[in-house]
Amino acid sequence: MPFWDKLEDLLPPDIISSSQEEKYVYRTDSTKYKGEPDLVVNVTNQKEVLITVNFAAKNEIPIIPRGAGSGMSGGAVPVKGGIVLNFEKMNKILKIDKRNRIAYVQPGVVVSELQEKVKEMGLYYPPDPSSNKVATIGGTIAENAGGLHCVRYGVTSRYVKGLKFVDSTGYLYSYGIFSNKSLPGASILIGSEGTLGIITEIALELLDEPILKDTFISYHSSFMDAVDTVIKIKQTNIDPSVMEIIDNNALNAVTQFKDISLLEDTDTVLIIQLDSNLLPDLLYRSSELENLFKKLKILGYKKAESNDEAESIWDVRRAISSSIKRISPNKLNEDISIPVSEFPRITDLVRNIGEKYGLRIVIYGHAGDGNLHINILYDKDDKSEVDNTRFAAEEIFKSTVQLGGSITGEHGIGLSKKTFLSLQYSKDEIGFMKKLKKAFDPDLIINPDKIFNVQREN
Ligand SMILES: Cc1cc2nc3c(=O)[nH]c(=O)nc-3n(C[C@H](O)[C@H](O)[C@H](O)COP(=O)(O)OP(=O)(O)OC[C@H]3O[C@@H](n4cnc5c(N)ncnc54)[C@H](O)[C@@H]3O)c2cc1C
Repeated sequence: MPFWDKLEDLLPPDIISSSQEEKYVYRTDSTKYKGEPDLVVNVTNQKEVLITVNFAAKNEIPIIPRGAGSGMSGGAVPVKGGIVLNFEKMNKILKIDKRNRIAYVQPGVVVSELQEKVKEMGLYYPPDPSSNKVATIGGTIAENAGGLHCVRYGVTSRYVKGLKFVDSTGYLYSYGIFSNKSLPGASILIGSEGTLGIITEIALELLDEPILKDTFISYHSSFMDAVDTVIKIKQTNIDPSVMEIIDNNALNAVTQFKDISLLEDTDTVLIIQLDSNLLPDLLYRSSELENLFKKLKILGYKKAESNDEAESIWDVRRAISSSIKRISPNKLNEDISIPVSEFPRITDLVRNIGEKYGLRIVIYGHAGDGNLHINILYDKDDKSEVDNTRFAAEEIFKSTVQLGGSITGEHGIGLSKKTFLSLQYSKDEIGFMKKLKKAFDPDLIINPDKIFNVQREN
């Protein structure tokens, strides 16, 4: 008799599946990691979540919350089997309170759907991971996702005004705007990678939609020159809403497949966007930026004069990921976060590490907030390349931490960076995190074996 026969009596039959097809789909996320769920429960409302978590708690069965599975660190992978609690169908925008500028949503709402809906009302939800057309609000809260516009507007945590969540015993809590109590400690759920509790409803702050935008691409003869420009921009009040850096390896990949015109001798480009609702403000900041470009004597720059021109600038950024996939059978996409002032040193180190192991490494990312994507290109059928990729990644993480950075900027630790956690955190610090995990989840049923392994107290 399967363990879930009793659960079948408690839930609508069409939301439970143990079919091979469904188990196959939900065994992994956007990483190479794989598990084997025993059961998938496609929840549609809070009551079904409570019933399922209660059942899992009573029977000590692992329960793994899952959004869209776009995670880049294996967070939603059911490594210990158990129940995948799939939120894809719990996807209603419950209410948009325009006067107070708050959106109330279920966790399975796709980020871009919320963004489009609030845009119709002149409002704006800024956190925009590049995966926003698939990633869910629940997943982005669990990962505290960042994105292109976070240099000006901040990451997901800045917008969470309240949460409802279910703890490991199946008890429902509300905090923030959902309650008149602050519920100390509950905000720790944001960024906890689905290991402390299961989010069932979210209240998100909205801003006014910035309707005026200027988009620039600047051309630089070296990565250092581009970094220097980023640092100088940050010292002014230009306050860009996007500041992306793209290195020569990424540009080489993109130009192989896209007809993109770059200035001669371009090694690195920056894509910069300014936004505002006040024309004088935008004009002032744009002219400050142009003055700065001229003062710094960069190779050159272009300001988009139309939406089409802005789109063709964005095409360069959008084409990176698919172009890299076309020039290399496999890539390891590591995201590090490091003070911008250390970009030159980390880039030198990364390039040296690439040379040492004979690997091509592509660097691009959110330069404005210090989040770099380091893509190591390799062939998974070449064992020595696979090994070298792992060694190179470890050396890159070590260098990052030595320079005051973090081994992940936005993708999380999950499974993929578990073994590197001790590069950044001391034994005591990891011990402290484990104590928190045990306080929230003493029976270790919620998303077990993610971030670190914890032993159960007897
Ligand atoms: C092409 C691509 C581009 C990306 N770009 C970015 C980017 O720019 N910025 C960025 O930050 N990330 C980016 N990511 C990573 C990923 O999209 C984010 O981590 C996103 O937050 C994951 O959302 P998801 O709904 O897919 O969550 P999943 O992958 O399903 O799950 C992620 C984690 O959240 C937990 N979780 C999901 N739902 C809940 C819930 N209701 N309650 C508690 N825990 C829950 C899961 O257990 C898991 O640990 C990118 C991924 C891809 C594939």
